[in-house]
Amino acid sequence: MFGILTLPVSDPTTDTQTPLMRQYLAAKRQHPDALLFFRLGDFYELFFDDAKTASAELQITLTARDKERQTPMCGVPYHAAENYIARLLRKGYRVAICDQMEDPKLTKKIVRREVTRVLTPGTALDPQLAAEQSNYLAAVHLTDTAAGLAFLDLSTGDFRATEFSGSNAATAQALEELLRLCPAELIFPTTRGPFGPKTDQATLDPLLAQIKTRTPVDDYAFSPDYAIPLLERQLGSQSLEGFGLAHHPAAAIAAGAIVHYVRTTQHSEAAHVESLRFYARAECLHLDQVTARNLELTDPLFTDAGPDVTLFRTMDACCTPMGKRMLRATLLRPMIDPEAIESRYAAVDAARASLIRREELRRALHGILDLDRLLARISLDSAGPRDVLALAASLQHLPAVQKSAASLSDPERGSPNAEGESLSERRTLNAERSQFWSHSATTLDTLEDLATSILTTLVPEPPLTLAEGGVIAPGIDAELDDLRSIGSSGRASIAAIEERERRRTNIGSLKVRFNSVFGYYIEITKSNLASVPADYERKQTLVNAERFTTPELKDYETKVLTAQERSVEIEKRLFAGLRTRLVENASRIRRTSTAVAQIDLVANFAHLAALRGYTRPRIDPAPILEIAGGRHPVIECLMENAGDSRFVPNDLYLDAGDNTSSPNLLLITGPNMGGKSTYLRQAALLVILAQSGSFVSADRMTYGLVDRVYTRIGAADNLARGRSTFMVEMTETATILNTATPQSLILLDEMGRGTSTFDGLALAWSTLEYLQRHIGARALFATHYHELTLLADEFPRLKNLHVVVREAPQGIVFLHRIEQGAANRSYGIDVARLAGLPPAVIQRARQVLKQHERSERHNVAVETEPALQLTMFTPLSQLILDRLAQTDIDTLTPLQALNLLEELKAEIGDKKVSTAP
Ligand code: ADP
Ligand code: MG
Repeated sequence: MFGILTLPVSDPTTDTQTPLMRQYLAAKRQHPDALLFFRLGDFYELFFDDAKTASAELQITLTARDKERQTPMCGVPYHAAENYIARLLRKGYRVAICDQMEDPKLTKKIVRREVTRVLTPGTALDPQLAAEQSNYLAAVHLTDTAAGLAFLDLSTGDFRATEFSGSNAATAQALEELLRLCPAELIFPTTRGPFGPKTDQATLDPLLAQIKTRTPVDDYAFSPDYAIPLLERQLGSQSLEGFGLAHHPAAAIAAGAIVHYVRTTQHSEAAHVESLRFYARAECLHLDQVTARNLELTDPLFTDAGPDVTLFRTMDACCTPMGKRMLRATLLRPMIDPEAIESRYAAVDAARASLIRREELRRALHGILDLDRLLARISLDSAGPRDVLALAASLQHLPAVQKSAASLSDPERGSPNAEGESLSERRTLNAERSQFWSHSATTLDTLEDLATSILTTLVPEPPLTLAEGGVIAPGIDAELDDLRSIGSSGRASIAAIEERERRRTNIGSLKVRFNSVFGYYIEITKSNLASVPADYERKQTLVNAERFTTPELKDYETKVLTAQERSVEIEKRLFAGLRTRLVENASRIRRTSTAVAQIDLVANFAHLAALRGYTRPRIDPAPILEIAGGRHPVIECLMENAGDSRFVPNDLYLDAGDNTSSPNLLLITGPNMGGKSTYLRQAALLVILAQSGSFVSADRMTYGLVDRVYTRIGAADNLARGRSTFMVEMTETATILNTATPQSLILLDEMGRGTSTFDGLALAWSTLEYLQRHIGARALFATHYHELTLLADEFPRLKNLHVVVREAPQGIVFLHRIEQGAANRSYGIDVARLAGLPPAVIQRARQVLKQHERSERHNVAVETEPALQLTMFTPLSQLILDRLAQTDIDTLTPLQALNLLEELKAEIGDKKVSTAP
């Protein structure tokens, strides 16, 4: 969080401060929790503790303002401030900008200064923010019956809200959704805290610590009477019904609090935030945070792996930043509505079928810059002329996008540029007409009116800022044109004056010039000073020249400078008018931007499907998952790029339907490095791709829609994550067992690794039993516990698979093939040998293993019943023995002894009862 910014609230020395410092202290008092950037001439200066913090964080020199008082101070040039501020925000600080409110040239007194904006990590427009990333500001609001969550990316205007009902469960779900979004900043009511006093702080705090900036906001911002009308005003609507918020007051209040916070920090109405989407969790395939991380959907698990290992990178060939963001969001929240998914497949198919039309479309998309972020800059008034022009340049590509969409929607008509298209290509196009493309073509608002206004108002290559003028095109404003002609006729009159004065004084080297400090002057070299006329006034002395002025020149100067000032004023007014026009059309621009994102996303999926030979998945009403020739999309690409051998395709069949003999749980055994984890993840990734509307890396895939995907990795496999402990693994497993449904897909990889063999085996065993008896979801379970394969005898729907290795004389060879049946042994020693363990160690290990196996066979012979066999490993009896050993009978009362006996009995009895269905 913020550094500690101690500043005396009532500084006893204030009275003795200079007027400037008094002004500073007044501004600082209003924003005690922000670093105050105080504009002084060409610098933003920081003082006191702010200066110490900033100099340390930004590595800039700390000096002292006032020799006597030794006030610590540091500063950054105002034109470079954006970068420094972004760095502070990324570290979690808030920054208040105190600007000069009047031109220092025009006032003799101290310049008036005001805080014009407060920048916070969740509301900043960070120029370094990657195109595909979102920067969310989030708010939570709890009522007695629900938990509301709202979040806004101010840099794009993306504003959403959701709500969870029920009191305790709602809080947990809201927390999870919050963490999944990784907001840059969370706001909450000051007195109540983010999740209210009821929530257990010990579990909450470490979770919330993942959000770097947590900002308390005045309670009233979260009151219904204030927040809801404010939200209505922001959305320009009388009622929230149209946004799906009518019956979700908790979500609406959270959203209203966000509007409050943005308006107060930005000192702006943020007009581009004009719509909000309410979503319910059931609308999408739910992926919890742990699953998203384990599957490396958007971020690598290990930082040294680089970003290429993520599904997002593998699937991103989008042409626009909006498309990239939509891809990222889609992979984290895939669809669940079969019609929406099918319609996207049809759209992808149509674009996949025609290389020429697709490339035409993607070329047009390539020219479109980040419409959302340009619009946000414009509406928050931080856009210069070049940003506005960039918007126009982007808008100019929209007609071509529309034309391509039309050509994809109507294959028969063909596009004028599609001459190279083969007959067979046309025929495939005929095969399926896509609603998506025709809808896009007819509804895309190409915003030509806005592009035209911008292009006619601005000059083609405007300067960065409005300060010097030269931004507005000629012919827009008569007065501006007149004033400019004074400027240009001025140049002619200067030449005339120069010529005349040369003749009058007979000094051939006489020059009339201008500079911003001294204005217009006549320069005469030292050697000619004798000929200077009496009416010249001396202005400045240089080494070998003197500069003069005359009354005529002074008059002229006033006229030119006034014209210049006046014309800059007019340009500012015209530019503001253009800006207003764009802001008034913000909702049109945003709608177009969303449409472009969708088009880009579909074209992206089509491009990758064609490039990599992905196929169209088939949705089945039954809860099955059938994959033929499936490949792990990320590893396949990585291997291809590295020029390695090819990925070995594998099949998969799961059916959690009514047929009681069909397999719904696959137990995969086999040596380390054999490909178990890859096989598991591949299944989840293919489902996520399919429900995102993409084609998939498989020869064929048929699936019933999945409502949740869970992926857990055993603790030992995951140690590098740092916080990984057996406890974490068990907490995660508990979540699955408590929330999975028969429509879910569950992947458990090396469960139970983090504890002793027997504990781990026992837990894995009972978890599998529970999955089969109580959940019946599609599940994959990779394990090194051989003993578990015996469960297949008890549960007919549990099928054993194993990864195949070839045993060659020089050691085992991994074939990465998955086949029916359990592995016949675990090959741990063979893998160790491959890893280069000394031969003596390998030999001894084989001996030990043989002895151990001999004794185990003996056990199995005695106890063939798998459930009974497990009791030999269970830690239960050991627990009871431990309890008894620790009991000191001499100090027990008879009642205590009875109680102990009852507890021990319950330990055996209750456990047995609770596992029965
Ligand atoms: P396990 O979980 O059995 O220890 P992994 O799934 O981690 O094995 O795979 C080990 C290595 O084998 C990984 O580097 C992976 O890239 C590679 N691999 C796995 N499956 C395949 C496959 N089907 N084709 C090619 N390489 C594979
Ligand atoms: Mg593994």
